[in-house]
Amino acid sequence: MAGIYVHIPFCKKRCLYCDFFSTTLLARREEYIAALLKEIEIRRDETGEPFRTIYIGGGTPSTLEAKDIQHILYAIGTDEAEEITMELNPGDATEAYMHAIRRAGVNRLSIGIQSFDDELLTLIGRRHNAQQAIEAVHMAQQAGFDNLSIDLMYALPTQTWSIGKRTLNKRCSWECNIYHPTG
Ligand code: SF4
Repeated sequence: MAGIYVHIPFCKKRCLYCDFFSTTLLARREEYIAALLKEIEIRRDETGEPFRTIYIGGGTPSTLEAKDIQHILYAIGTDEAEEITMELNPGDATEAYMHAIRRAGVNRLSIGIQSFDDELLTLIGRRHNAQQAIEAVHMAQQAGFDNLSIDLMYALPTQTWSIGKRTLNKRCSWECNIYHPTG
């Protein structure tokens, strides 16, 4: 089974803990997408089989417009793709954007929530707050995403076990299927 990972190396702001490669030079997005589409074209026959899974990560793929995501997916080819994932920053979530990326072909979202504690989010340099994170999940579900994952971080500076437990125990109105450690 063939799968492909596409890196989108742009972020609106760098988080303090991050080791992934990305730049805040958003003005270079168009140039990057043009190069990416060219590379997809050149290497089209390299795997010899269609992609079953496509993962668009970063960086922050949600810094791209939905039409750019659509162009990338069209160039890769989604006819045989069962799972098409995109990472999303809660700070980029709007109803219109969620619907647009769903229409573009994305069928799974990985949402970078990291914490439901606003102080911790500020401390690590995230550009969203806990309320935006919750709203992002609701908007995703309303746009038709029934396959979602969320990232949560632990062992952050100043994070105590009770803050971590509060995050795990956060009562959301969506169904959470997360591992609850005892104690
Ligand atoms: S948004 Fe993601 S990729 Fe960008 S700096 Fe923060 S953690 Fe790293």
